[in-house]
Amino acid sequence: MSAARAATEARGETFYQGASRVHLAAFPPKERWDDWVELSSRAWPRREEHHYMLVPTTCFNCESACGLLAYVDTGTGQVRKFEGNPEHPGSRGRNCAKGPATINQVTDPDRILYPLKRAGARGGGQWERVSWDSVLDTLAARIRTALTQQRQNEIMVHIGRPGEDGFTERVLASWGVDGHNSHTNVCSSGGRTGFQFWMGIDRPSPDHAHAKVIYLISAHLESGHYFNPHAQRITEARANGAKVIVLDTRLSNTATHADYWLSPRPGSEAAINLAVANHLIQTHRYDREFVRQWWNWAEYLQACHPGVAVTFEAFESILAGLYAEFTFEFAASESGIDADVLTEVAGVVAAAGTRFSCHSWRSAAAGNLGGWQVSRTLFLISALLGAVGTEGGTFPNAWNKFVPRPIYVPSHPGVWQDLSWPVEYPLAQNELSFLLPHFLKDGRGRLDTYFIRVYNPVWTNPDGLSWMEVLRDEDLVGCFVALTPTWSESAFFADYVLPMGHGPERHDTHSYEQYDGQWVGFRQPVLRAARERLGTPVTDTRQVNPGEVWEENEFWIELSWRIDPDGSLGIRRYYESPGRPGSKLTVDEYYGWMFSHSVPGLPERAAADGLSPLEWMRRYGAFEISSGQGALHGREVPASELSDVQVSSLGRVYTRAAAEAGPNIVPMGAPGPDSDGRRAVGVLVDGVVRRGFPTPSGRLEFWSSTLAGWGWPEQALPGYIRSHVHPSRLEGDQVVLLSTFRLPTQIHTRSANAKWLDELAHTNPVWIHPSDAARFGVRRTGDLVRVSTDIGYFVAKAWITEGIRPGVVACSHHMGRWRLDGGPRGAGGMMATVGLSRDASEWAMSRLASAGAHESSDPDTQRIWWSDTGVHQNLTFPVHPDPISGMHCWHQAVRVSPASAGDQHGDIVADTGKAREVYREWLALTRPAGSVSPDGTRRPRWLMRPLKPSEAAFVLPPAAQPEAQPEAQPEALPEDGA
Ligand code: SF4
Repeated sequence: MSAARAATEARGETFYQGASRVHLAAFPPKERWDDWVELSSRAWPRREEHHYMLVPTTCFNCESACGLLAYVDTGTGQVRKFEGNPEHPGSRGRNCAKGPATINQVTDPDRILYPLKRAGARGGGQWERVSWDSVLDTLAARIRTALTQQRQNEIMVHIGRPGEDGFTERVLASWGVDGHNSHTNVCSSGGRTGFQFWMGIDRPSPDHAHAKVIYLISAHLESGHYFNPHAQRITEARANGAKVIVLDTRLSNTATHADYWLSPRPGSEAAINLAVANHLIQTHRYDREFVRQWWNWAEYLQACHPGVAVTFEAFESILAGLYAEFTFEFAASESGIDADVLTEVAGVVAAAGTRFSCHSWRSAAAGNLGGWQVSRTLFLISALLGAVGTEGGTFPNAWNKFVPRPIYVPSHPGVWQDLSWPVEYPLAQNELSFLLPHFLKDGRGRLDTYFIRVYNPVWTNPDGLSWMEVLRDEDLVGCFVALTPTWSESAFFADYVLPMGHGPERHDTHSYEQYDGQWVGFRQPVLRAARERLGTPVTDTRQVNPGEVWEENEFWIELSWRIDPDGSLGIRRYYESPGRPGSKLTVDEYYGWMFSHSVPGLPERAAADGLSPLEWMRRYGAFEISSGQGALHGREVPASELSDVQVSSLGRVYTRAAAEAGPNIVPMGAPGPDSDGRRAVGVLVDGVVRRGFPTPSGRLEFWSSTLAGWGWPEQALPGYIRSHVHPSRLEGDQVVLLSTFRLPTQIHTRSANAKWLDELAHTNPVWIHPSDAARFGVRRTGDLVRVSTDIGYFVAKAWITEGIRPGVVACSHHMGRWRLDGGPRGAGGMMATVGLSRDASEWAMSRLASAGAHESSDPDTQRIWWSDTGVHQNLTFPVHPDPISGMHCWHQAVRVSPASAGDQHGDIVADTGKAREVYREWLALTRPAGSVSPDGTRRPRWLMRPLKPSEAAFVLPPAAQPEAQPEAQPEALPEDGA
């Protein structure tokens, strides 16, 4: 009898031979993971056994963090394949195509295996192999010098795909640097902003599985946020009769599964949401008691209707008029969808009651000026229905997520990074990352040492040629370091290219909202775990990774140790072993401490199996902490927390004293401090102090005192902002280019090195409706078209389809990967070789050679049958920063025409001088903190910030006053809607 079986039966439980969670025989039961036997299909009919040790890890190919099982061949000691981990509570053994394709990344013949240093000019394509020791010493010396010379703001780490919650932020905090930058303002910050202003928490967590109606503003089933874990639950709900409503201008795979597919004009989604909300209000089909208890209507009445009695009845009568103009007819005129259809959809929504789940993430919220009001108006529907924290409703994500506290939490850095958090955007949800080239060109600062990590700014961002210009300029970026498993358009310009592990070659913890429960998952280097299971200790992940591939956690620990070799900078103490004073912290100690001290229930569960918490996580990969969280906002605050509190006139309950300075990472969902630093502990609701929401009022904020108080009173309520691509703003021959959609089998910038995915999808034609094709003079699918933006054009193939509404064209993200002639191959199956020329500020890129069949260590690369790898459209987009959320508004007003004589597929022309002009136009829409801050700070303290500086750093310096920023005077958003 196995030890696991003995332990199970000792607990009085039945030992289940099959998969323990979903009871599908397809999954290997965890009790057999030490020696899982499969028969060779190639050997059939001969019986040939393959013996595997199954080791869990976590997929790194999107943000869903599904569980994977590595099949480690016990004969070769190598990973043979990856499949789903049935023990993972979020993904439950299922993966999308990108999960198993992890094996392609591990065996990629083009991957980077050794640290490289630039030889010759930046971008010249010449490299020399160097040792990790020399790289670490060089970088440590640079950073130490910058720190001792008080140049903290010249150090920046720019993150693409985060691995672990807060690891890099803590590294930077330990250095006293406000240097965290993210990709979020080209991704999800528009969606987040709308939820943040309502709940104080920036993500929704829909309980799709139990919903009656599922309302999605995205291609959620195929590529939306947490799509695999959510898609399987949406599928369950549909099997139980749930209706699915999808708003997507494009006929996505998700739309094909919808009961109602609405294809609105881009940017009109908020008008549809408000028409549905108005229907609920006018027909009295909203949850009065929920609205009365949980909306901050009293605060709204006091602030905006001072002569009105503060009663719920008075609020209701005002509410009845607030959205009266958002009729179905108005929404129809904005969206192009029949009023009858909208009426029917509103009826379906109204019937859902508290079983209404919804999601909006990138999509419309990421495409449009004011897109953040799309998610805000969507949550208005949930808040009217009382479908918040209910079975089948939508939760704040923090209730369904768990972030374990690490062994060390450094204090808040005492500096403020204006290059990421500029004074013009006090309410920005995340760093203004995509404006970095413009800020550097403006002379707002320089970077001494700039790291990118799983991030490809030249390719991912709009206006990539401006990125190229600054990354080539050693006066603006002194040392450019790319931490990456693979080559990218950005890494070609780096000074150091440092190989980091793919998902199964590195450590991280993570937890995401995927159902009404909390879990924590463990990404781990699977060969390390396999070796340790066999009794061979591993002290450095490089001992098991290919070549000299490392992982970031060990890299950051080592680098920090070398920055502060004698501890005089106060950094080293955050990297010392807890049990071996004076010695360096190991990742086993780091995660061992975390799993032993910070994950409730895990130590007991592990002990029952005769394992340490770390051993348990290395063996099973994920642990469910709780399920059925329910409505946390309604929980009573225990009397023990109410001994010394004060209550505001609006019922917010605070500690009497200012809260002590806490860790730099504010726990998700923790009540936010007020401007005096007092900590909110709850909110008074009908005489009972309840937890409430981490907003300033403690309630759901229908009216935002923050927006009103920080210069945007006209946007303080959920509303409709007409997009920059609203029909009224298009010139006669312009159409909207919808450029944001993802392909289900692609991984942004990383799938070029996964051959199975490349074969599935490798190009991005321009979707054009037949009526538009006739108007443009495009005769057939495959014809070349020129798509002209405000700063240039790209040449692509046409796909004539009724899957897009007239007046809109669409081109997918992911494609058009390129390498400069003479540089490393990068990704032979997906990167075209290009030539790049420049005339003043105008750049031109043209294709010298297509991707295609080639020799490599993988014989499959000789079987590549495609050569069309699409076009890099983002190079032709100027930046469009939303003045409130800071989100880049991706949609473009474009002209489409047949290609001109001489145009070749993949041609790009872009003018970085014109890009500067567009940047300045959008910057002029902002209302800088120096003009609008009510308290002399740069940003409301309660708003989230991944790495929060000290209180003192929040105070505006004199230089940030309006006269120092003449180009950024307050202006109204152009032609606001209702
Ligand atoms: S949805 Fe697919 S890519 Fe994303 S984590 Fe899951 S398996 Fe990986």
